[in-house]
Amino acid sequence: PLPTLAIVGRPNVGKSTLFNRLVGKKLALVDDRPGVTRDRREGDAHLIGLDFRVIDTAGFENEDPQSLPGRMRAQTEAAVREADVALFLIDGRAGLVPLDEEIARWLRAEDTPVVVAVNKAEGRAGEQGALEALALGFGDPIQISAEHGEGLADLFEALLPWL
Ligand code: GDP
Ligand code: MG
Repeated sequence: PLPTLAIVGRPNVGKSTLFNRLVGKKLALVDDRPGVTRDRREGDAHLIGLDFRVIDTAGFENEDPQSLPGRMRAQTEAAVREADVALFLIDGRAGLVPLDEEIARWLRAEDTPVVVAVNKAEGRAGEQGALEALALGFGDPIQISAEHGEGLADLFEALLPWL
């Protein structure tokens, strides 16, 4: 069986855009409005020399924003637990927000290795976000642009030990 990557993060950071790029098909629904990925989607991904299974999660969407346990959706938890590595996506333009910190706390308590990627980092737009994401303690954040296909070699290198 192929190793598995789970993409996690708050709504609108670009999880489905990255999923689509890795899978190479328009399998995941991408929308400006949060909450449009209604359930978890899986596909066979290819990234440079790596072939793996990728899961696009949406466990932090479509929930009462006041209810943290409500956001910890069972499917997202299960995806991270079965994954060989979790890719924690941050929006480099928005910077860290409280929900990112909450997701980070949850991921720290899980056994799955975590790689942090700062998305929407085309140009220099992700540098501040990368500094903030470094403080999460998951190691050096990768700066990527899922939409423009930038930073994929760095992403490959960061995922290589786990996939
Ligand atoms: P999700 O909710 O985390 O699955 O996020 P989506 O993939 O649906 O993307 C949310 C929005 O961010 C969409 O408008 C995307 O076009 C936009 N987006 C995704 N990746 C990038 C990127 O690398 N750069 C920029 N500037 N926008 C992006
Ligand atoms: Mg989505």
